[in-house]
Amino acid sequence: ESKNLGRRCYSFFNTELDERNKRKVELESEVRQALVNEELFMAYQTKNRISNREVYGFEALMRWNSPKLGFVSPEEFITAAEEIGVIDSLGEFALYQACEDLKKFQEDADHPLTMAVNVSMKQLTHSDLIQTVQNVLEETGVNPKCLELEITESMLAQRLDEVQPVLNELLELGVSLSIDDFGTGYSSLSYLTRFPVSTLKIDRCFVMDMVENKSDATLTHTVITMAHKLGLKVVAEGIEDEDQLALLRVYDCDIGQGYFFTKPLNCEQMQSHLRSLKEKPDWAI
Ligand code: C2E
Ligand code: MG
Ligand code: MG
Ligand code: MG
Repeated sequence: ESKNLGRRCYSFFNTELDERNKRKVELESEVRQALVNEELFMAYQTKNRISNREVYGFEALMRWNSPKLGFVSPEEFITAAEEIGVIDSLGEFALYQACEDLKKFQEDADHPLTMAVNVSMKQLTHSDLIQTVQNVLEETGVNPKCLELEITESMLAQRLDEVQPVLNELLELGVSLSIDDFGTGYSSLSYLTRFPVSTLKIDRCFVMDMVENKSDATLTHTVITMAHKLGLKVVAEGIEDEDQLALLRVYDCDIGQGYFFTKPLNCEQMQSHLRSLKEKPDWAI
């Protein structure tokens, strides 16, 4: 009896594993073609000042609509791209596209706007990232001060020694660096003072429950205070409602991002969103 059960469990597990492997193989072969087949595009979400909701800049988020697999989440396809070694070309595409589109967004704006691009650890540990960033800045004419690179905390903390020289070279180009998903990396805080970062992005999971959960609120407030003492700017991710925004204002958080302001929009949609904001005085860009 128990042996039977065991066997059944085993075969169930095996089927699940097979499915997962099949998906992985399929993903990996499809993502290899995605760039040349022009299936990838960038979506943008605004970052807004908490104090007056003014648009401060954007985050670029990659999207893949695969003819075979449908819409695939970036978390899934970025991992696949890393594993088969095509992340560098995807990353290069993201940088070019985001900077080109930033120029368009800046045309209508009355103050400088920034663009943040996510960079994976694999890109940071390959040597041509610096050259790529330099080329993109030159070719698109974007002011280096307006370009920000987001690096996930968990990745950074693991391999700080290896990436520190790369980060320093990036800084020399004039771009700024921010730590993404802060608070989820379970790392020591000491690296914050060694890392030439200008911004912390507090992970969505803290913001999500902040209004109901006292300890998430305390953590968020503490991180903001600490970051300010270290001279860092703070961005809160995943703001979905007015109550969260109000609390973040009390905590003196600098910048917010989330569905409350905008969902990720493609370039054209963002341009018309920005135009519509110009007509509303308190949301003006
Ligand atoms: P991330 O950099 O932390 O990006 C924020 C994620 O939160 C995005 O998910 C965004 O759509 C989502 N988000 C923003 N506001 C809200 C909100 O109010 N509520 C909820 N529920 N979600 C919100 P997305 O676009 O699925 O991207 C997931 C992750 O994939 C990103 O996390 C980033 O780590 C990675 N990623 C996306 N694009 C790129 C890229 O071009 N290169 C690299 N290396 N990674 C990327
Ligand atoms: Mg990010
Ligand atoms: Mg994040
Ligand atoms: Mg994330």
